[in-house]
Amino acid sequence: MPSSSLIPTDLSCLFTTAGMQQFKPYYLGEKSPYGKNVASCQKCFRTSDIEEVGNEKHLTFLEMLGNFSFGGYFKEEAIQLAFELVNSKFQIPNSKIMVTVFGGDAEIPRDEESVRIWGKFGFSEKNGNLRFAGREDNFWGPTGEEGPCGPTTEIHFNGVEIWNLVFNEYYQDKNRKLTPLKQKGVDTGMGLERLAMVVQNKPSVFETDLFLPIINKIPGENEKAKRVIADHIKGSVFLISEGIFSSNVERGYVLRRILRRAIRFGKLLNLPKNFLIPLAQKVIEIYKDIYPEVKSKEADILTVIQKEEEKFEKTLNLGLKQFEKISARGDISGEEAFHLFDTYGFPLELTEELAKEKGLKVDIKGFEESFKKHREISRAGVEKKFGGVGKEAPYESAKLHTATHLLHAALREILGTQVKQMGSDITPQRLRFDFSHPQKMTEEELKKVEAIINQKIKEDLEVKKTEMPYQGAIKSGALAFFKEKYPEVVTVYSIGVFSKEICAGPHVKKTSELGRFKIIKEESSGAGVRRIRAILE
Ligand code: ATP
Ligand code: MG
Repeated sequence: MPSSSLIPTDLSCLFTTAGMQQFKPYYLGEKSPYGKNVASCQKCFRTSDIEEVGNEKHLTFLEMLGNFSFGGYFKEEAIQLAFELVNSKFQIPNSKIMVTVFGGDAEIPRDEESVRIWGKFGFSEKNGNLRFAGREDNFWGPTGEEGPCGPTTEIHFNGVEIWNLVFNEYYQDKNRKLTPLKQKGVDTGMGLERLAMVVQNKPSVFETDLFLPIINKIPGENEKAKRVIADHIKGSVFLISEGIFSSNVERGYVLRRILRRAIRFGKLLNLPKNFLIPLAQKVIEIYKDIYPEVKSKEADILTVIQKEEEKFEKTLNLGLKQFEKISARGDISGEEAFHLFDTYGFPLELTEELAKEKGLKVDIKGFEESFKKHREISRAGVEKKFGGVGKEAPYESAKLHTATHLLHAALREILGTQVKQMGSDITPQRLRFDFSHPQKMTEEELKKVEAIINQKIKEDLEVKKTEMPYQGAIKSGALAFFKEKYPEVVTVYSIGVFSKEICAGPHVKKTSELGRFKIIKEESSGAGVRRIRAILE
């Protein structure tokens, strides 16, 4: 199967982060139109790894090779296929490989079958090339309140994970009870860049042919800076090729963040103005035959990058000077961070990173408060002075984001807890929410949902943000997205006791900030899926 877009159909996640995402429904029993066994090479973008970039193995944009089975082959074939590919085709000797297998816990037995299969190929604990690991490392899912999950086995080369094989063999229900799945599934992921690093015998992904031509165009000694620039320019090219523009919200903000981060590292290397353009052209040259969209969107790509570079160039030096001044006094206050954002275009994360380099902290909460205060001032009618309405977009989106959580909870209250989120899309003007429900909602049901939400807004509930381990979050009843890959520690937003969801945010602080919630339309969005559009007045 060809790669799907970097923008997933499941709009609750910002980007496609793994190959299995486009095949989610087939793991749940929906019949796959492509047969039971498929393979793909998937474009992925991982915001969670932005700050890892610079080490030998983490990238933001990566290509993930994967083979998938929905009720087709299972462990025996999956491990054998993986071993053959690695050993015979790629000629990676066993002596360089270490495999990990799920070691079992109080609830789930050790994955003896995988142990047996690996044994056939010379891997065992006794031989010192098979290690056991627990739930944290070698068990996957479920990502929702319930869903498929199962043990994994990983292939490591010199301590670097290159391939992860996931075996979906259990179904975990709401009470955390596990039952064996009737239809078992396999979901694997292998980073192409890491594989290239291994087979080309290079110490890092940046020395492979997927990066060297870019790196070689960047003069300077600071290796980390060069890696960050090479990675971020590649990521930017691919994001823009999907129609994303630099902005202060959502995907556009991620693009802005990596572009500005690249520009800042360019500064460290004293690179000339517009240094990103020839690098972007190099990226396009490398990938144009595989991903024609980078070529057909070349004009857009170069324009967006150049504009962003010019925009940031003007204020970057002044901002860095300002930062030096502020940081000399100690930790960065919320207001100072907001000033850097508002006046010098520093994404909050950039300020955090600069502060971290100096061992200082940034008051994030204070930043958010300043943001809100700023918005109230704008509202009071002095928009011009503060640069107009554009800056309000993030706040409007945050409000609609909180409203989406209320809507989700209200729908479950009125229609039943079988209601599942199927997608969500927010612009600063409106929210759109897709959910599973077999028939059109009645007028009465819609009225009730609206009424509940407006009641919760009136109650002025606190929106609380907490960080906790993923498993703990699920145990505590937080809603999550089916089969989404979450990090070990997740952010959970709860609204009073009414709603609790794993979510990256951002949200407002109190429900009273939302104003009035109004449903504009309820319509079908595919078989068994309804779509609601709503606004805040
Ligand atoms: P790691 O622990 O190294 O971050 P992971 O557990 O996040 O890896 P998976 O989510 O299992 O990795 O992804 C499957 C495969 O994709 C990995 O085995 C690896 O080859 C590759 N991969 C994952 N994250 C990255 C990344 N940031 N850059 C390059 N390749 C990656
Ligand atoms: Mg990772």
